[in-house]
Order: sequence, then structure tokens, then C-alpha cells
Amino acid sequence: MQLKTILNRVEPHKSFVYGEGRLGTDATGQPMIEVEIEPRANGRAICSGCEVPAPGYDRLARRRFAFVPLWAIPVFFCYAPRRVDCPRCGVKVEKLPWADGKCTLTNSYRWFLAGWAKRLSWKETAEAFGTTWEQVYRAVRHAVFWGLVHRKLTRIKAIGVDEIQWKRGHQYLTLVYQIDAGMRRLLWVAQDRTEASLHGFFDLLGKRQAGYLKFTCSDMWQPYLQVLREQARNALIILDRFHIMAKFNQVLDEIRAGEARRLKQEGNLVLKHSRWCLLKRPQNLTDRQAIKLSELLRCNLKTVRAYLMREDFQRFWSYRSPTWAGKFLDDWCRRAMRSRIEPMKKMARTLRRHRDLLLNWFHAEGTISSGTVEGFNNKAKLTLRKAYGFRTENAIEIALFHTLGHLPEPDFTHKFC
Ligand SMILES: [Zn+2]
Repeated sequence: MQLKTILNRVEPHKSFVYGEGRLGTDATGQPMIEVEIEPRANGRAICSGCEVPAPGYDRLARRRFAFVPLWAIPVFFCYAPRRVDCPRCGVKVEKLPWADGKCTLTNSYRWFLAGWAKRLSWKETAEAFGTTWEQVYRAVRHAVFWGLVHRKLTRIKAIGVDEIQWKRGHQYLTLVYQIDAGMRRLLWVAQDRTEASLHGFFDLLGKRQAGYLKFTCSDMWQPYLQVLREQARNALIILDRFHIMAKFNQVLDEIRAGEARRLKQEGNLVLKHSRWCLLKRPQNLTDRQAIKLSELLRCNLKTVRAYLMREDFQRFWSYRSPTWAGKFLDDWCRRAMRSRIEPMKKMARTLRRHRDLLLNWFHAEGTISSGTVEGFNNKAKLTLRKAYGFRTENAIEIALFHTLGHLPEPDFTHKFC
């Protein structure tokens, strides 16, 4: 069996013919395979400017295009591109069906690398297939751009708005997810967490599609709520469990840090190493953390009281009826206001201010899964952690869309991975 038989099966190009495959060596003595390509005798070259056949002009020097490796041996297509004398565009290089423009990677190889870059880090992908990080990045970028151009943003019913921190300090990205039962994906990434960050999404979506939105989930961040009220007029704004409990953890952590500092000055180290046993849910604690927690709970500390208040608030989410949930909320806030723990009082005031939006959660009961935004948030953070080496804004956006965007791909004759 010849190599060209396989190539004609996996990647046929009707105006071109494959020659014999040739096993050679590269400059470092490593094996490589070269496959010559020639235009069919009756095939006319296509102008790359207007994509219409045009009369021939001349031929350029032979170029090599990297194809999917075979048995860890690099494979190259070798071809001398023709130039056309196009009546519309002038003298232009022909359009090649296996590669774009000046790119030295074939389309198949680019999609191959992009496919592996979803399963491995970009660095690992480059190492596994003997290419560079830069080539993998370009392949992924190409896949993402193609996907963004070809995706459909119609009849989206539910979105979740989230922010993640992406550098040390306070640099944020705003992320918008579709969280419909049948389709969950990342829709939008923008710098910062301002009104403008979210407005960009609605500009992309358009007024008509924004009218289809029935539910929006977000945290209590005012700029987001402001834009959601303006732009998603038919949608119920929901403050979701994940974001509210994350806010509780921030408050609890602030109280713990303050009290630990004060106790340390008095030589009391009871709060040392207590951070995670207080922030985690009790069922997720390790044995050691559980013992530490039971010791702590015997102390009369502000931190412990705040911890118990947070755990008590978890009951809020188990209600079915908005009325009873509302009664619980009012009752909890009254107790918090009497607690003499300033950050908890502040939290209670914030919750009171957002009472209606909090109760919307129960009006939307069963339609929004509380885990969806949290799941996306975790995956986005993981993507950023794996993102060492490409901490530029563009590369991060591309990595996020690549892993979470559920982007479409072209129909291939053959899938290489
Ligand atoms: Zn042309």
C-alpha cells in the first residue's frame, strides 16, 4: 500500500494529485516524510483574492507544509504554488485547499493540534508532536476564530454572568455563559468587571435575541445588575447560591483574619491553620480539619459565631416557597443585626437590599441548576492555572473559548484525533 492511497482516502483534493511519499532525513538526521503535490493537468488555479479560477501567470518556489505526523515521523506536503493573473485582483498566489495564506501548517494539522490542545496543555501538545508552543497557540487561535464565526447565538434562554481574577491584584475578566438545560457554553469574555464589560455581550447578542432571555444569574455586583436590568428586559434576575455563599466566605474570612491577628498579639494561637476548616462545607473536611473544627466550636469566638451563622444560612436554599424563604431571610437578617459582628451586619444589610432578587431563585425553581455557574467557574480557573506561559489577554481569551466555548468545527473527510 502506498502513502498516496491513504492520503487520497483521508484528504482528497480534486484538482491536485499526490506523488510518492519519500522517506528522508532533516538537518539533524531525524527521519521525515515528504509528499510531492502537483496540480491536475486540466485543473485551473483559483485566485486567492476572489476565489474564482483565473489564467496562470508563473510558479513560485517549492514550499513545504507540515501535515499530521505519521508514527511520530513529521510529514510534509511539498508544492510549488502557482500565481494567477486575475482580471479583478491582478497577480495573486493561488488558493490552496490544504492550507491558508502563508501558513506553513496544513489545515488538517492545525485542527489536529487544536484537538489535542483541549486534552493536554499547549506545552505538552507541542512536546508530544514535536512542534513549538507558538505553533500550537496559532492552531488553537485558528480553531477558536473559525468556531466564533460559525457559532449560532439564537434563542438563548438563560445566561450566567461571572467574574474571575486573573493576575495578582485586582484584574478581572467578565465571563458570560449560556446555561440552558440543552446547551451550556462560554459565550463572552471581556476585560474588567464594569458595565462596559457586560454591555459588549449585549451588543454582540443584539436586541432581538436579548428579548428571548428568560433567566440571568449573577452575583450582587452592581454594574452587572444594572446592565442586566437594562438589557434583559424579559428576564428574571437571579442571585445564585454559588455567588451568595462565596460572598459569605469572604465575610467569614475577613472576620477570621481580624480575630486571628488580635489573638496572636495576646499569644493565643487557637485560630492558626483554621482557614480551610472554616471555609469548606463540613461534609468536605478531612479528618484532621474536622477535629480542628470541633475544637474551635467549643471556643467563644466571633469567628465561630459567624461560621455558625453562615451554616445556618444554608437552610435558606432548601425552601420551596418564596414566602417561607422570605420569612427565613428576614429572620436571619434580624439575628445577624443583633450579632455585634460588624461584617455580618453588613452582609445582612446587603442581603436585605437584594431581597427580591434573592427570592427570584425560588420563582425559577427547577429551571436553573445552581451547579452550572460554579462548574464553569472552576473550569475557567483551572484553564487559567494551566495557562502559565501565555499570560497575555488574547491568549487567555482564546484558551477559555477553546475549552469552554463548545465551538463548532468544520465537517472533515477524516478526523485525525
Ligand atoms: Zn481574483
